[in-house]
Amino acid sequence: MKEEKGFVKEITPQAEDFSRWYIDVIRKAELMDYTPVRGCIVFKPDGYELWERIQAGLDRRFKETGHRNAYFPMLIPESFFQKEKEHVEGFNPELPWVTEAGGEKLEERLALRPTSETIIGHMYAQWIQSYRDLPVLINQWANVFRWEKRTLPFLRTSEFLWQEGHTAHATEEEAREETMRILELYRDFVETEMAIPLYTGQKTPSEKFAGAVDTYSIEAMMKDGKALQAGTSHYLGQNFAKGFEIKFLDRDNQLKYVHTTSWGVSTRLIGALIMVHGDDRGLALPPRLAPIQVIMIPVGPPKFRDKVMARFDPLFDALKAAGVRVKSDLREETPGWKFNEWEMRGVPIRLELGPRDVDSNQCVLARRDTGEKITVSLDEAVERVQALLEEIQRNMYEKAKAFRDANSHLDVDTLEKLKAHIARCEETGELTGFILAGWCGSAACEAKVKEETKFTSRNIPFDPPERKHTCIHCGGEAKHTVWFARAY
Ligand SMILES: [Zn+2]
Repeated sequence: MKEEKGFVKEITPQAEDFSRWYIDVIRKAELMDYTPVRGCIVFKPDGYELWERIQAGLDRRFKETGHRNAYFPMLIPESFFQKEKEHVEGFNPELPWVTEAGGEKLEERLALRPTSETIIGHMYAQWIQSYRDLPVLINQWANVFRWEKRTLPFLRTSEFLWQEGHTAHATEEEAREETMRILELYRDFVETEMAIPLYTGQKTPSEKFAGAVDTYSIEAMMKDGKALQAGTSHYLGQNFAKGFEIKFLDRDNQLKYVHTTSWGVSTRLIGALIMVHGDDRGLALPPRLAPIQVIMIPVGPPKFRDKVMARFDPLFDALKAAGVRVKSDLREETPGWKFNEWEMRGVPIRLELGPRDVDSNQCVLARRDTGEKITVSLDEAVERVQALLEEIQRNMYEKAKAFRDANSHLDVDTLEKLKAHIARCEETGELTGFILAGWCGSAACEAKVKEETKFTSRNIPFDPPERKHTCIHCGGEAKHTVWFARAY
């Protein structure tokens, strides 16, 4: 038991230092490692596997909605960035450049892509000639670069992995439909598979993507009360079409610019997963996303091992045959050590089987989400495990939602109240969370809130819990009801 406690103690408690906790967990669970290149991390197998499961779930949904994958080059000519003014201004400070190759200085330097609207726009201009070529529905799984000053593994790194969808349509209506279809696809995936509750809505102009007409986002609340933008979908209008001359001959014989969209989620989602569900014992993974759903551990004195294994092995096979992602841990270490190890790694169910369990034709299921232990008959163990996985998935979502709702404040809707709220939180250690407030639409009011409180507008929710009528800063008539929060 001593080693159990020592093991857990290495993770800094969340309440003591949330950032420290986060780093402790991701390192202890071996999700990543730092490299000599500043801001660039290694996704170790256990971390990469989470990404693979995210990829699989999204890729299936993209394909079901008619999208196909392609791959575009990582190097983008400098001149491409000049073709969309807001885009170049937005991304220029973050671009790493290739200036030499083959021992020679390049005539035109090449950027490591921060996103691929430009190179894809250039190619679409050649591929799209007629209305018959539309829509173009392409997604790319790739790495991108954004040279960041302050980095945090998974949440903000100089190189990260993502998917970027790029579509072209004949009409604004179709392109806007696509933008919303993808936002809903993201919401569905993140809420149902990752058990992370979201606020979906539209970004304010100052927070939108550089070059977009409208940006929509899904926003999640981390356990320290801060917001994380978990995914975005952009209606780009004809901005990139005009910059890159993406034109088509329509049915009416008129030459028209296409309407484009782009949308993406990244390895940030791994950070969200950890910060929404993790606790002082380590990771906690929702069953639908967990690479291992059940860890089977034989317990009891070694002299009974053969007797235990005679039931253990068939149960393992039966779970596997039923489609459960199960793994057995037969290492030399004590059961207690293994229990802690797999709890720290976030496996949803631990299945224990010992000699006395065999005598009683039962096994023990321990839940990672609640710590509860349940004894079930071996005859119905497979069904009980399957039902419990569903129950844990549901419970993790409900728990995260209850936490988010408890830290979403509807009555902090003026700058004065917000300042008082922050002061009170600093005193009591409560989380500042999200606040819902009215906004007149002026960028100056939004900037003032940010300047004085570090609260930024997260999004204008489609379906706010209530409508606000006055602006958080100037008190003028509110055009929008907005979620504000401190954000990653
Ligand atoms: Zn105002």
